[in-house]
Amino acid sequence: MIPVSTFAGKKVALFGLGGSGLATASALVAGGAEVIAWDDNPDSVAKAAAAGIVTADLHGIDWPAQAAFVLSPGVPLTHPKPHWTVDLARASGVEIIGDVELFVRERRAHAPDCPFIAITGTNGKSTTTALIAHILRSSGRDTQLGGNIGTAVLTLEPPKPGRFYVIECSSYQIDLAPTINPTAGILLNLTPDHLDRHGTMQHYADVKERLVAGSQVAIIGVDETHSTLIADRIERAGVAVKRISRRNVLADGFYAEGTGIVLAETGAARQVADLSGVDTLKGSHNAQNAAAAIAACLSVGVSEDEIRKGLASFPGLKHRMQPVGRIGAVAFINDSKATNADAAAPALSSYEQIFWIAGGLPKAGGITSLAPLFPRIRKAYLIGEAAPEFAATLGEAVPYEISGTLDRAVAHAAADARAAGEAGVVMLSPACASFDQFRNFEVRGDAFVSLVAELEGVTMLVEPEKGK
Ligand code: ADP
Repeated sequence: MIPVSTFAGKKVALFGLGGSGLATASALVAGGAEVIAWDDNPDSVAKAAAAGIVTADLHGIDWPAQAAFVLSPGVPLTHPKPHWTVDLARASGVEIIGDVELFVRERRAHAPDCPFIAITGTNGKSTTTALIAHILRSSGRDTQLGGNIGTAVLTLEPPKPGRFYVIECSSYQIDLAPTINPTAGILLNLTPDHLDRHGTMQHYADVKERLVAGSQVAIIGVDETHSTLIADRIERAGVAVKRISRRNVLADGFYAEGTGIVLAETGAARQVADLSGVDTLKGSHNAQNAAAAIAACLSVGVSEDEIRKGLASFPGLKHRMQPVGRIGAVAFINDSKATNADAAAPALSSYEQIFWIAGGLPKAGGITSLAPLFPRIRKAYLIGEAAPEFAATLGEAVPYEISGTLDRAVAHAAADARAAGEAGVVMLSPACASFDQFRNFEVRGDAFVSLVAELEGVTMLVEPEKGK
C-alpha cells in the first residue's frame, strides 16, 4: 500500500467505496488523514465500516473544513450530470480529485524522479500497459503495474528511486488528476466512446489531452484527427512529442510497416522490432500498442535489445486474442473481451480460416459492420440470444450453425477445424455482451479455456482456471 502522506492531519471526504475507493480510503487513513467516506450502496458502506473507515452521509458534513474531496472514477463528475456530492464539494470550493492524483502527489513528495509511465486511449490501454510492464520486468527492473487495469494504484508499493510505475488511466481518472505529470505519457488513439459520460467528443479529447500535456515525453497515436491536433498543440507548448502510427509512414516517429516497427528520426529510418513471430501481438492494432510501448521504454532508458526480448516473450492478456491451446495445425483463441462488433474486428482481421464462435447478448447494429471480414470465416457457431439475428446477417455469405451453448460450439468447431485438415483457428470472439449466459466476459473466456482443455489431443498454452 502507498500511505498517502500528503493529507496527513487533514480532513478528507471520500465518495465511492467499491474496490479502488476502499483501497484509497485505507491509504489515506494509513497516511494520517481524517477520512469520512460514503457510498449510495449500503453494502459498500458496511464493508468500509468493517474495515475501520469512518462513514457518514456526506450531506451532513462540514464541507468547508475538508482539504479535499476524493471521488471514485466510476461516479459522474460532469456527465450526464454531476453527482450530488460533486455539487456539495463545489459549493464549498473543495478541490475534487481521485486516486491517481493522490499517487502523483506522493511520487512528487517522495521520489519525483522515479519513472512513471501513464497510458490512456480509447482502445488498447490494458494491452499496452501490460506489455510495457512485461518489458520492464523481464529486463530486471523493479516494476509496479496498476490503475484502470485492475490493481488500484494506491495498493501498489510506495514510490522510491529506481522503481518504475506503469499506470493505465481511464478518462475518468485523468479528469480527477489535475496535476498528472508522467515521465512518459501515452495517448494511443481517440475514437468516440463513453460519450454518455463526457458529453461531446471534444470534451473527451480535452480530458485525454491532459495526460500527455503534463508529460515529460508525450507518445501520441496520430491516426485520428483529434489526437493529431493534440500532438501538434502540446508540441508547440514545449512538450517533447513522439508520434506513432499503425497506418502511415512518419518522417519523425514510430510506425508499423508490415510486422515491423520502424523508428524514423533525424532523416533516417530503421526497423527497431519485428513482431512476426509474436503470436500475442498479432494485428495492426497490436502494432500500434507495441510501437507505443517501444517509444515509452526507450524514453525511460530501456535498451533496444531489452525491448526486443520483452516483446518476444510477452504472454498476452487474458481474453484478448489470447492463444490458449493447439491441436496439430488448429489454434484455439480466446477473445472473450470482444463484447461488440468493433472489438471483434481486430481478431477477425488477424486470422484466416476461422471457425468463429460468436453470440451472447447482442448490441445495436449486431455484426453487420463485420461483413468485409466474412470471407475469413469458414463457419460460424452461434450461441446465446444473438444467434437468430447473427444467422440472418450471415445469410448465404457464411456457413453457420446455431449451437446454442458454448460447450456445443467448442465441440463442433474443434471437430470441423480438425476435419478440414489444414491450418485454422477456433476462436471465441463473441461480438456480444455475455450476461445472457455468463456473469461477465472473464467467466465466459475461462469457460472457453476449460472446454478447450477437455478436447482430445490438445496441447494447452495456458492453464484453465481452477474451480470454474
Ligand atoms: P482497453 O484496456 O483500452 O479496453 P485492451 O488492451 O483491453 O483495451 O483491448 C481490448 C480490445 O480492443 C482488444 O481485444 C482488441 O480487440 C481491441 N484493441 C486492442 N488494441 C487496440 C488498438 N490499439 N486499437 C484498436 N483496438 C484495439
